[in-house]
Amino acid sequence: MTTKLNLDFISSLIEKTKTFLFDCDGVLWLGKHQIDGALETIAMLQKMEKRLFFISNNALSRRMYCEKMRERGFDVSVEQMISSGFTASQYFKQNKIDNILCLSGPGVPEELKNQGISFRRAEEFVNQPFDINKIEIDPKIQAVLLAKADYYTYYDIAVISLYLSNPKVLFFATNNDPTFPIGSRFIPGCGSMVSAVEFATQRKATILGKPQIHGFTQLKQRHPEIQKEETLMIGDRLDTDIQFGNSCGIQTICLLSGVTSEEEIIQCKNPELIPTYYTETIKDFLDEKN
Ligand SMILES: [Mg+2]
Repeated sequence: MTTKLNLDFISSLIEKTKTFLFDCDGVLWLGKHQIDGALETIAMLQKMEKRLFFISNNALSRRMYCEKMRERGFDVSVEQMISSGFTASQYFKQNKIDNILCLSGPGVPEELKNQGISFRRAEEFVNQPFDINKIEIDPKIQAVLLAKADYYTYYDIAVISLYLSNPKVLFFATNNDPTFPIGSRFIPGCGSMVSAVEFATQRKATILGKPQIHGFTQLKQRHPEIQKEETLMIGDRLDTDIQFGNSCGIQTICLLSGVTSEEEIIQCKNPELIPTYYTETIKDFLDEKN
């Protein structure tokens, strides 16, 4: 059962909440377009001394994500960023998984480096002319990590699949999002890469970003003062943001400013995907008093 937020209730919800976890795309902005009221709401919550974190399945590094937010006018620090590449790197460190073979953009290698984890990139192994039988196998590789990459080839997928033909090599992905919003259109997300490799290898990737709760578990380790009862997840996607918040045992708000329609929320039958509340946009948080 979900409830459309009554605007009068929002201020008491904000009052009770000490920690806010925000998804970004579809919540604070939509592609290049800033969502009306986003800057003001974040500034208002900061003024109220709330703890704010920005949790994204985007595979940029925390540093890159922070720069992106600052360029958009948000007054934020790297410590407030939780990107899926950061979550994956922390996971590897905590579980003593090293020597990662990654297929990703530049954000993931930066995070792996920050955590002192060794890695190689799939493209390093692609030979010319491509011959699968001549590809070197690095026996040190313990795991494969997929993250959304703008540039990759069929040969990279072949290299990754070759490594995964060894059942001892673990298989991870930052996320399984089918699409990624750019303005009013969508491009294929990391999930499209995951599907290609899963189909070729008949193996299943372990997802480390949302909806899995690693990002929140790690956050609570860094900030033991965070209490679930006083934490709110605000997102626009049911099968990542809302499922994540529900799995974490925290309250959730789905905003209609991104990929989800009111109809989809009302018709949703899967309790794992139903938000505690929903409302139109982040602008509804703004209270003229603040
Ligand atoms: Mg989103």
